[in-house]
Amino acid sequence: MHSPLDWIDDELAALEREGLRRQRREVTSLIDGRCRIDGREILNFSANDYLNLAHDPRLIEAARAVLDQAGTGASASALISGRTPWHVALEDRLARFEGQQAAVLFPTGFAANVGTICALAGSDDTIFSDRLNHASLIDGCRLSRARVHIFRHDDLGGLEDKLKNNRATGRRLIVTDSVFSMDGDLAPLSELCALTERFDAMLIVDEAHATGVFGDGGRGVAQLQGVEHRVTVRTGTLSKAVGTLGGFVTGPPAVVNWLWNKARTQMFSTALPPALCAAATAAIDIIEAEPARRNDLLRLAATFRQQLTAAGIETLQDATGPIVPILLKTPDRALRGARQLEQEGFLVAAIRPPTVPQGTSRLRITLCSGHQLQDVERLVAALKTVI
Ligand code: PMP
Repeated sequence: MHSPLDWIDDELAALEREGLRRQRREVTSLIDGRCRIDGREILNFSANDYLNLAHDPRLIEAARAVLDQAGTGASASALISGRTPWHVALEDRLARFEGQQAAVLFPTGFAANVGTICALAGSDDTIFSDRLNHASLIDGCRLSRARVHIFRHDDLGGLEDKLKNNRATGRRLIVTDSVFSMDGDLAPLSELCALTERFDAMLIVDEAHATGVFGDGGRGVAQLQGVEHRVTVRTGTLSKAVGTLGGFVTGPPAVVNWLWNKARTQMFSTALPPALCAAATAAIDIIEAEPARRNDLLRLAATFRQQLTAAGIETLQDATGPIVPILLKTPDRALRGARQLEQEGFLVAAIRPPTVPQGTSRLRITLCSGHQLQDVERLVAALKTVI
């Protein structure tokens, strides 16, 4: 019998034919960049827990202590009654970590991006967005109802032309990732700041993959490139190097107060579980106190890249740090590569459209500070046979 949902089966079958259907798996993450999947323990080169903090006993203990007092959920949005002392402590800690005066938390990094962009731009405004920005920035731009101009990745001349040709009234935002999540390269923030200033715009930078990994104290790419206080608003996540969950924005009181009043993704969503806030606060302390974690990780990533080059395996040239993409172009090749690597004991993500543009399907390898030199050497050896 005909069902109004029949089209879903047709669409899923089409995705399957194109190698674009997603299959969900059951994975248990373990310490030191490992995981259990299909009953086997293998190396996990697909997670974003860059500093290996998600299993750190200090985070677990911090969370456990609060669980006993505050329970498992915040039970209301922050503006109603969900903002506990642990939320306040985390906001203060994040502001201090980033050298800012205030912070606001969001349920996720995705929500931070959507909520922030929509609070800063509306239908009278214009956004200039890098073509390779993360989906959360793209969706934030779309939901804001601003006019959106996409500029080619790394094409600052193209961005400048668009800024010149679109001098409409209203606010203007330039939006970019600081570390591009699927390519691993860094945005040229200094040049973007210069354009922002010249064209009287605002610059919104998503530091999701940079917090804890890049810059002095792990403060991100804006710090690394010396433009922390020239970027208008930076968004971040606690779900990657910070090892927990949640999004955040730090900044001057005006920005933070505006987001408390206008960022709908935090206003109308339940606050983070207090225990997670305590774990994230402990993680920020560790990120500040243990620079060796990120320095070792960056060294390991550099060694891995050298070994790949020596083995004749190409990675994206501009990429740096723990995200290492290997371009295989078609979805089928990426899927086959990931399957073969898994048989060899390595979990690596096959990334396909729409996550990346057509023709650029890839293996996306991510390293963490729990990986050892011999782990990456074994991965290089396996990649030689797979590619
Ligand atoms: N920004 C970027 C660049 C990301 O890669 C991600 C997560 N994949 C997010 C934002 C969203 O962060 P979260 O997982 O905390 O929602």
